[in-house]
Amino acid sequence: MQVQAEPGFNYNFMQNSEINFSDFGLEESLIESIIGIGYNNPTPIQAAAIPVILAGKDLLATAQTGTGKTAAFVIPVVNHLLKSKEKHGIKALIISPTRELALQIDQAIDGLSYHTGVSSVAIFGGSDKQEFDRQMNAIQRGVDILVATPGRLLQHLNLSYSDVSSVEILVLDEADKMLDMGFFSDIIKIKNEILGERQTLMFSATMPQKIIDFARQILKPEFERVSFKLSQPAEGAKQAVYILHEDQKLKLLLHIIKHDEIESLIVFTSSKLKADEFHALMLKNNINAHVFHSDIDQDQRIDLMRKFKNKEFPILVATDILSRGIDIDNLSHVVNVDVPHDAEDYIHRIGRTARSGRTGVAITFVNERDQRKFASIEKLIGKTIPKTPLPEGLGSAPEYLPYQDKRRPPKRQGTNSNSRNIASPNREFRENTGKGNSKNRNHHPAPPYEHNHPEKQFAPKSIDNPKNRRKPLPEKPNRVHKENTSPTPPPKLIKKKDKPME
Ligand code: AMP
Repeated sequence: MQVQAEPGFNYNFMQNSEINFSDFGLEESLIESIIGIGYNNPTPIQAAAIPVILAGKDLLATAQTGTGKTAAFVIPVVNHLLKSKEKHGIKALIISPTRELALQIDQAIDGLSYHTGVSSVAIFGGSDKQEFDRQMNAIQRGVDILVATPGRLLQHLNLSYSDVSSVEILVLDEADKMLDMGFFSDIIKIKNEILGERQTLMFSATMPQKIIDFARQILKPEFERVSFKLSQPAEGAKQAVYILHEDQKLKLLLHIIKHDEIESLIVFTSSKLKADEFHALMLKNNINAHVFHSDIDQDQRIDLMRKFKNKEFPILVATDILSRGIDIDNLSHVVNVDVPHDAEDYIHRIGRTARSGRTGVAITFVNERDQRKFASIEKLIGKTIPKTPLPEGLGSAPEYLPYQDKRRPPKRQGTNSNSRNIASPNREFRENTGKGNSKNRNHHPAPPYEHNHPEKQFAPKSIDNPKNRRKPLPEKPNRVHKENTSPTPPPKLIKKKDKPME
């Protein structure tokens, strides 16, 4: 079967009101759990994938986060476990590329199996010895569903207490991301540990040839295909674009934070280094922000994610590690300080906001070098996003000429000829902090627009008002426990003055 979304149609959160979960013939306790978490009707990916999986077929699904794809595999997996006679050993194994996604899937299982007695545990790397032992104990005690990142799972498998030979359903989530992250051979090793007849489900946000080849190696030859590829960002995401020079990005970001109505914001950067730089500069400007990337200690990552989801602090500066799959309630803003390398990552990034039919704002900064990349995003989403003029005081913006040769960009007004046409990721940091290579600094004169140091000009008021904080979610010590994870929306953290968007 090939269910193909109409090109350009936003399937993001259209539920199919003609189908009920009870139409799938699911177990009573599972239906009770689904209703309990507030799902009334299946989303299109669920309507298409659940019957295929329930029929025991292998599946290759193109589905992005935000479409309800987690429940599309969790629901039939839990149903299978409820029907499974053989109760010993791990019965379902879900592999995910990132720790955050593993935890999130585990939480989804928690909700979707609340009344069923099905157990799950998430295991992932980067945590301390105590956490490793906790994971080991959970596996030894026995669990129905194991959600794991590939590297950590192999570590456990190499120690004799853990065994996935009894797995009946293997799910590979975000398969394209896993291949990009170099997990191919780890997945093959894990697959080889599974002994009996297994059903395999592969979910991927994109479907390049390498994923189809991979599917042919892993899935049964007669596998089914379901496709809900989003060629459009979430409908409720208001998109804005600023064309600017690299050295205007920080000032514009500070301006937006100061003037826009931000409840919570993820600032996406193209590298860990840049995330660290922007984070440092934001702290220097008295902004309560935290940084999130793969070099951050795992315990800290879990803590940061929990606090950010609870709205305990408003801003996270992150790499694309957060662009896939992370479900954050009421994320009001996404700012891409760099255009993502891959056009489809744009849809992923801005899909962090306006989830589940809500609204949000997605702003992208496009420097001269990234103009062509941005044009390919506009081509992908099939529309031109209006270019918002820079706010007063930020200086003049370059023209948007994406198809002009940018190797020798035109001179900037008021700028020395050998100055700053091609942006260096470190330049802004050096300029604003006074740190860095003093020899090089001599070759890069001061910014051409007249303004003071960003600290003076854009010192925003504190946006960390403790009165606005939500009651924190209890910490989840890796083993699933039953709790309500849907906090109420917080009051606004910043008063709206004017909107920088058109
Ligand atoms: P996902 O694509 O799995 O990341 O899911 C996106 C969001 O949709 C999550 O917050 C889910 O809880 C929610 N969701 C998934 N399926 C449904 C459904 N059938 N009805 C309502 N919400 C859903």
